[in-house]
Amino acid sequence: MKTLVDMKGQKIAGEMLSRYHSGNIPPLLIFHGPDGTGKWSAAEAFVHQNLCDVGTACGSCPSCRKVMRGEHADFIQFPEAKTAIGDEEDPAPFTIRWLLQTRICFTPFDGELRFVLFPRADLILNEAETALLKTLEEPPDHSRFIFIVSDLELLKPTVQSRGIAIPFQRMPDISVSEITGETNPEILELLGGSLHLYPFFQSSLYHEMKEKIQEGFSHPMSLLELEKWLHSQDKKHFSEYFPEKDYSYDEIIDIFGMILLKESSTHPSRNELNEIVFDFKKNLHRDVPGLFPYLTGRLFHNLMAVLFRSKN
Ligand SMILES: [Zn+2]
Repeated sequence: MKTLVDMKGQKIAGEMLSRYHSGNIPPLLIFHGPDGTGKWSAAEAFVHQNLCDVGTACGSCPSCRKVMRGEHADFIQFPEAKTAIGDEEDPAPFTIRWLLQTRICFTPFDGELRFVLFPRADLILNEAETALLKTLEEPPDHSRFIFIVSDLELLKPTVQSRGIAIPFQRMPDISVSEITGETNPEILELLGGSLHLYPFFQSSLYHEMKEKIQEGFSHPMSLLELEKWLHSQDKKHFSEYFPEKDYSYDEIIDIFGMILLKESSTHPSRNELNEIVFDFKKNLHRDVPGLFPYLTGRLFHNLMAVLFRSKN
């Protein structure tokens, strides 16, 4: 069982959390920071520790065993999805009215405290948020809330002001290395202190992409092939590489840009290549229909011009 002691590379969050014990846990804790920096596993460890009968996440008491089976009735984890307010009469599970009418209004089943975790607090819809805010303004003695969010600014000031913010930061490479066992400096650099992309760099797609980029840098025909390959990979295709992890198409293309930058860094025309890739990455996230083929078209056109311009 994970404990708070296992938290690596998150000194501030670890110290803050270790100060809270069942008697003094604030009604709302907001874990915020970049994806892949351990917010969710820290939240779970924190809850486990505080539900454990001896307060150490011992792993063997009845409470710990329930937690490990995912059956502890006093640990309610909402799904990583939009949270609605729910029907007034008959609210569906994991809506706010369901939470308030069928859970929060009762005392916990086992111990003194109940924990409610929202792994994507930014996806609590407006009405739902208003209803929840009322509860947070007069929090019940027996329930504690944990919100997880990649950026504090995604929450309304009224919500922020109700909670204690627990900051998570990008981790030093040495911590990432300790957690994952990864020692390749290139991969550690591309991870940039977060575990979010780790499954990508473990997949065959990373090696395939990197190899194709290296080939593309060496010959115009291979560069054309790289462009064709990139266009042939739609979201479904990409997701087959990661059954466990749901990267968006944009994220994969973003990683493609990162690897391009990495490969450009040793090229004699690296400054020009960097400009081209930055320009591509900068426009990538603008949600304009038909933009993507245009951007990749321009990217490859520019790469071709710089990589293989005639020497005379
Ligand atoms: Zn225990």
